[in-house]
Amino acid sequence: MSSHWNGTFSCFDRVVRTDSCVRTIVEIGDVRIGGPEFVVMAGPCSVENERQIMETAEAVQKGGAHMLRGGAYKPRSSPYAFQGLGLDALKLLKKARERTGLAIVTEVMSELDVDVVAEYADMMQIGARSMENYSLLEAVGRCGRPVLLKRGLTSKIEELLRSAQVVVESGNPDVVLCERGIRTFETATRNTFDVAAVAVLNAVTHLPVIVDPSHAAGIRELISPLSRAAVAVGADGLLVEVHPCPEKALSDGNQSLTPYQFKAMMRELSPYIELRQKSLQPELVAVAGDD
Ligand code: PEP
Ligand code: MN
Repeated sequence: MSSHWNGTFSCFDRVVRTDSCVRTIVEIGDVRIGGPEFVVMAGPCSVENERQIMETAEAVQKGGAHMLRGGAYKPRSSPYAFQGLGLDALKLLKKARERTGLAIVTEVMSELDVDVVAEYADMMQIGARSMENYSLLEAVGRCGRPVLLKRGLTSKIEELLRSAQVVVESGNPDVVLCERGIRTFETATRNTFDVAAVAVLNAVTHLPVIVDPSHAAGIRELISPLSRAAVAVGADGLLVEVHPCPEKALSDGNQSLTPYQFKAMMRELSPYIELRQKSLQPELVAVAGDD
């Protein structure tokens, strides 16, 4: 780690990278995040009904996704917007996993829901708006499932690492960080993809880092170019919103890809992923050789 950052982050000793520590690989079934494989999680912003989630699960699997995302408990900016189907959505996600074999990542918003979400999900998502909810972080720290920790809308890298430290300190070493865009003065995009944050995180922490281009951009046309940037800067994977009919989506339709567009994006991304594999850091190649 650069001496420039030592003072800033060294207090987060459970997540900070040192010369002697190995990079964390988070295992979810046979998916390994932080290793040689570039891991893509895809699916709708919200689970809306059985047909929608099944159709999307099958489509993203065919398109090359490794995991299925889908919101059951939704943190919406407006109290009048769709808030998610809750437990019914968790049951549908379970059904989608049984159908496709794809592991499930879904958000948990309240510490009261941690047990039920952990019963159905393979990975617990902490949303941007919950990044500093310490009682929730402590509860997922004890839940026995890997955690996807999203960066807060106005959070510094230091604050993201502080929250990761809380989860690890509570007993859970399986944390994946997610850069999902931050609030800046720019309004042409929903948020600003902080591409440098991925490079900084790779330098200062041993935890895997993925990118959510959907919430960063807010516009579906930008998902593919931002995904290419994510691969190039060294992300370990992506979290992408896909909906069978985005114009009818109950949340985040403007930033959702159709299954056809998702497949096209994955095709466009593949030479970049190949290049990434070829230029892997020696420590990751050693991990690949161990398999
Ligand atoms: C989501 O993943 O649908 C979501 C609400 O993301 P964020 O917490 O990053 O806004
Ligand atoms: Mn969303």
